[in-house]
Amino acid sequence: MDSQAVRQRMVQKLAGQGVTDPLVLGAMGAIERHRFVDSALVNQAYEDTSLPIGLGQTISKPGVVSRMIELLRNGATGRVGRVLEIGTGCGYQAAVLSLVADEVYSIERLRGLHDKARENLRHLRLPNVHLLFGDGMVGYAKGAPYAGIIAAAGGEAVPQAWVDQLAVGGRLVAPVVTGAGTQALLVLDKTPQGVRQSLLEAVHFVPLKSGIA
Ligand code: SAH
Repeated sequence: MDSQAVRQRMVQKLAGQGVTDPLVLGAMGAIERHRFVDSALVNQAYEDTSLPIGLGQTISKPGVVSRMIELLRNGATGRVGRVLEIGTGCGYQAAVLSLVADEVYSIERLRGLHDKARENLRHLRLPNVHLLFGDGMVGYAKGAPYAGIIAAAGGEAVPQAWVDQLAVGGRLVAPVVTGAGTQALLVLDKTPQGVRQSLLEAVHFVPLKSGIA
């Protein structure tokens, strides 16, 4: 498949939806999303839709991935520093993050997906991506403090460990449950004066679960 042209069309659509960060648009244009999904789904890889990746989980929509990473970068001109991603899934978002951040720590609680992400990322040889198997509810203290934390699964509240592991001046972007079965994007800034939060648009993510499996 001539994926370059298809990807450029996707990037134009993302820009049309309001994504302006050139590093984010560049990364979305560079990472081949079709390599992260089952061969039966390759034709849908550049549509703005989430797709199954096995074990009941999904790869997020390109529109949501780019929106969240743009929020995470908070207008930075160069790369942001160290980033923690909760929910590696198939590894797609970790690959995108690797092009806009200095270091990416990505944690997954399902062994099968952790292994799949490792396999998917192998050909890209991204030395700044660190895949971790474990419960992301407790974050990953060894990599802290983080300039950014991004979650791909939604819980009732943001675990305190994430806030603790965020650098002062850092930003967290995560889906949180806001009511009966509804989720919204939460943006949390850790400032010298304390934590500042805002709730943005509705989103649909798989649930954040504790423990490993
Ligand atoms: N960023 C991923 C999206 C995967 S979906 C991608 O690009 O494909 C969200 C993932 O979060 C699922 O794989 C799910 O298993 C994982 N997850 C849920 N709760 C978790 C937790 N406590 N720690 C780590 N991963 C978690």
